[in-house]
Amino acid sequence: MTAPGPALVHEDLGAAWRAARPRPAGRHLDSAACSRQSSRVLEAVAHHARNEAELGGYVAEATVGELLQQGRSVLGGLVGMAAADVVFVESAQAALNALLAAWRLPAGSRVACLPGEYAPNAAHLQAAGLAVERLPVDGLGRADLDGVARLLAGDPPSLVHLTHVASHRGVVQPAGAVAQLCRAAGVPLVLDAAQSLGHVDTDVGADVVYSTSRKWLAGPRGVGVLCVRPSVAAALTPLLAPPDGVPPLRALESGEAHVAGRVGLVLAVGEHLAAGPEPVRERLAALGRATREVLDGAGGWRVVEPREEPTATTTLRPPDGADVVATRARLLGEHGVVTTAIGPQRAPGEMTGPVLRVSPHLDATADDLEALAAAL
Ligand SMILES: *Cc1c(COP(=O)(O)O)cnc(C)c1O
Repeated sequence: MTAPGPALVHEDLGAAWRAARPRPAGRHLDSAACSRQSSRVLEAVAHHARNEAELGGYVAEATVGELLQQGRSVLGGLVGMAAADVVFVESAQAALNALLAAWRLPAGSRVACLPGEYAPNAAHLQAAGLAVERLPVDGLGRADLDGVARLLAGDPPSLVHLTHVASHRGVVQPAGAVAQLCRAAGVPLVLDAAQSLGHVDTDVGADVVYSTSRKWLAGPRGVGVLCVRPSVAAALTPLLAPPDGVPPLRALESGEAHVAGRVGLVLAVGEHLAAGPEPVRERLAALGRATREVLDGAGGWRVVEPREEPTATTTLRPPDGADVVATRARLLGEHGVVTTAIGPQRAPGEMTGPVLRVSPHLDATADDLEALAAAL
């Protein structure tokens, strides 16, 4: 007798997402690392590259000026900002770097972060001369709102940097509530949305939101986005002034760039909107629930996240003696299942050991999850 499969929703979205892409070589459960691009996105990127060869790079770029501006507008819409508040960069880390370089906060300015902050982010904040402090959290690493309110009421930091969904744990931070507390205290909130844009609601009232193309939006690699509200943009001093007639923030957009990749991201965001951000979120949350249901206990691996957490990202702690890196390699080599092994160095303030991360996108099926459970 077979048990009933886990409940998924919006099967039509899953089927459409699958049909829009090249067939995967195996089972791709690794969208928190890098999603699979659609055929239309791949073709648009190739088409732009070809135009560069035929027309000249700068001539080709001028032909997509309107499209890129529409893209800034749509990306801004996903975070509650306007086109003039959005610039394209090369990655999420490049966005944070560009922001900090232009902000020029006095050395020793205090920034409050989660203890589970993504290690490269913490390194960038420290390299910018900032003193990193910890936001209070519960046992799962979720911000404790009463504690955050006390911190902001007492001796508030110069800014709060919040990673909305971590790379190493599929837990959503209460970003909307933190944004309200920050606004009331007059402290700018910077949101790392690398794992949340296209995955959970990112229109939460943050002052700065930055993200990357290749994860949940399924755009090309090597592209990122930085969104800054005018209140913070006014405090920035870019190295060079932007050309006349373009919004001041545009000085943070690199002139030399993988323009074809930006074109691809704009198309990918269009596909995300056409699918509907709300049903996308619902299906991703249902996939996360199903993943946890099917995998918890399989081969002795234990799920870290609460079963109902509304994300598609699940992490698994290994049974005694199991090597996470070797398991990830075995899943790929012997079963064609793509996952990520994450060591504690990714978030040393929170992780006590390695985890295996499983992050399906809309096209995943119950069969994929059951195959992974069996392989574990
Ligand atoms: C992937 C990731 C980043 C970095 O994104 P890049 O585009 O690789 O720079 C930052 N923060 C989190 C939480 C991430 O998962």
